[in-house]
Amino acid sequence: MKAAQLVAHGAPGKFELRDVPDPQPGPDEAVVQVHACGLNHLDLWLEEAGLPIPVKLPRTPGGEIAGTIVALGATGSAGVSPASPWKIGDRVAVQSNLFCGECEFCKRGEDSMCLRGEILGVQRDGGFAEKVVVPARALVRLPDGVDFDSSAALTLAGSTAMHMLTNRAHVNPGDWVLAIGGASGVGSAAIQIAKQLGARVISTGSNETKRALAKKLGAEFAVDSNDPKWPAEIRKITDKHGVDVVVEHVGGDVLGKCFDCLARGGTIVTCGATAGRDVPFNLWPFFVKQHRFIGSYGRNRSDLDATLQWAAAGKLKPVIDSIFPLDQTAAAFAKLRSRNFLGKVLVTTRSESH
Ligand SMILES: [Zn+2]
Repeated sequence: MKAAQLVAHGAPGKFELRDVPDPQPGPDEAVVQVHACGLNHLDLWLEEAGLPIPVKLPRTPGGEIAGTIVALGATGSAGVSPASPWKIGDRVAVQSNLFCGECEFCKRGEDSMCLRGEILGVQRDGGFAEKVVVPARALVRLPDGVDFDSSAALTLAGSTAMHMLTNRAHVNPGDWVLAIGGASGVGSAAIQIAKQLGARVISTGSNETKRALAKKLGAEFAVDSNDPKWPAEIRKITDKHGVDVVVEHVGGDVLGKCFDCLARGGTIVTCGATAGRDVPFNLWPFFVKQHRFIGSYGRNRSDLDATLQWAAAGKLKPVIDSIFPLDQTAAAFAKLRSRNFLGKVLVTTRSESH
């Protein structure tokens, strides 16, 4: 089969479309024929060796996979039901933070906290290939009406936002929610999810096109993130109350600004650090205003399932910027690095693309 493999780190890194042996399923594993796979900032970190995780090259990146099952390993090893719910031809998405299914966290459904977790496309080969082998427990069924592209555009970033807003933090109807970066994968999903939960949503965007997209997705207001005084703008919009919940995935000085417009008793939930991992932190306003600051990592399988059910019900819509064929995976990475895109960049194994 063909696989787009990273053979040398860099920005850009070096990719080669290689012929590699078809993956074979071990016990309790499944081979998925990849139809589409979404790109995420994680892929850029992998490309430039920016992850605090050792990575062996060559590596096939790609964690946001949608496809069909083409082979199943034997079932019935420890901790797995002997009766597999899966059959050849089933349409699936893949939970990309692979989990062991056996540790104390997995046993209570918190697979995003797994003690032996691995990231698909980082610690093992991912979905920028014709086929990928994954543990069967990481599969989630694609509902009727959710096509492969929509799944590949929602299941990682969208379920990240779902985990943040429905599991790690809590949103009450009428709350003000700030979704940072409304044109990003996480931000575009966070706007829609928060709105469905009854919140009034504000977003940020660095240009008019991005802000217009945020409003189209349900944000009442979208502020200019290039204006350093945007937190004051948010104080004004909320009549000095501030926002009750912030969905933050950027880090750096953006995170500090989020605290500047957070209501008393408000919560910031964060899942990323593309703008910087070390952030100065003033404890005085933090405890005086009784703020909460919550970390969020990946998603549980239940969040992924909920994301797909919401998509099937029309409550959550993917925003797809562009789709590249597998042999142009390097160009897809370049697009993501350019920051000049709206929503999601996908790679498809189909011959046509746009
Ligand atoms: Zn585990």
